[in-house]
Amino acid sequence: MQTKNKTRQDKTIPHLYPKDCRRRPDAFDEPPQKRRNLRIWESYRNFAANKEKGGRPEGSFPEEAAQKDNKTAMTIAVFGNWYKRSTLEEVAHVLDFMESRGVEVLLAQELRDEMNLREKYAPYSSDTKKYVDFALSIGGDGTFLYTASMIGERSIPILGINCGRLGFLADVQTSEVDFVLDQLVQNNYTIEQRQQLMVTPSYGGHIEHPFALNEVAVLKQELSSMIGVEASVNGELLNYYKADGLVISTPTGSTAYNLSAGGPLMMPQTKSLILTPIATHAMNVRPIVIPDDWSINLRVKSRSHSYLLSVDGRSYAMKEDVTLHIEKAPYTVKLVQIGNNSFIKSLKDKLAWGM
Ligand code: NAP
Repeated sequence: MQTKNKTRQDKTIPHLYPKDCRRRPDAFDEPPQKRRNLRIWESYRNFAANKEKGGRPEGSFPEEAAQKDNKTAMTIAVFGNWYKRSTLEEVAHVLDFMESRGVEVLLAQELRDEMNLREKYAPYSSDTKKYVDFALSIGGDGTFLYTASMIGERSIPILGINCGRLGFLADVQTSEVDFVLDQLVQNNYTIEQRQQLMVTPSYGGHIEHPFALNEVAVLKQELSSMIGVEASVNGELLNYYKADGLVISTPTGSTAYNLSAGGPLMMPQTKSLILTPIATHAMNVRPIVIPDDWSINLRVKSRSHSYLLSVDGRSYAMKEDVTLHIEKAPYTVKLVQIGNNSFIKSLKDKLAWGM
């Protein structure tokens, strides 16, 4: 905790960002340890150099890189909101911390570019991701969603550090970072699994990452007139919503778009989904909760003959004749939990319940 305060007191030193991210000599009380596990990075560099010279055929990152110098050394992938200066300062602090603990770091491409760290850190990529033990997401809940989409089906546990506004997913405050990272490298943590949704468009629709930790939503596009959404659950017609849109939310997403549209809050462990219409015209239509192993089919009618599909905020324009099949995803997102943070505490703090 002390080291963190020391780093933060002097914000005026032009350290770490953006062109020179070398560690400040006074950033830590203890002398920097030599990095113990450089083989992934060395191996990646040789691999990349050989590839450039044409000396090695196209292929995957060499397997021998996985042989770590020190069996206890961890590899952590760091993601962050690269267009916010305050977040980059937090990223720089975390990188210094990891270096001092001998943790191998793979850095998200955008951070490597923005912080001019291409020489120092190997990128998180399809070649290197198999070596990662944990991911850190530094930013807000939006950054956490992005990190989860980058991690994908590998389901690497993610720890979210909050530099955003609310922080339900990224619930570690910057004042707690040193303590929490210390616990992580000592393997003092628990893992919480969060269910995701998977959306499959019918023929004619394509989406790159069809998995949603928060929600899948269909929204009106272009015209101001309402859309009609025919929603069936488990093969039975549930409703024909006339509204601005329909949100299918997970319990995790219940504090996001679903909440703004008037849907209920749900404990993240609840095995349910919520269908919440956005600004529905019918007064007697209300959000409804269904079991999370039920499938949902949506057919959208629109005056413009098109609509918007939103998957955790990633938008795709769809033609009216594309129908959507939504179901539980085959893999979960794993959240690293350290310390006393709980969902109930987040609700009380962030929704200002005044207790
Ligand atoms: P954005 O439009 O830039 O930000 C959306 C806001 O939602 C941010 O303040 C974000 O928090 C917050 N948020 C995201 N997930 C949350 C969660 N699980 N619980 C509580 N708040 C959450 O978009 P973005 O940052 O890429 O996030 C995409 C998400 O935005 C979507 O999944 C959807 O839920 C939400 N959204 C909400 C509305 C609305 O409420 N009217 C409209 C469109 C989209 P941070 O500031 O901490 O990042």
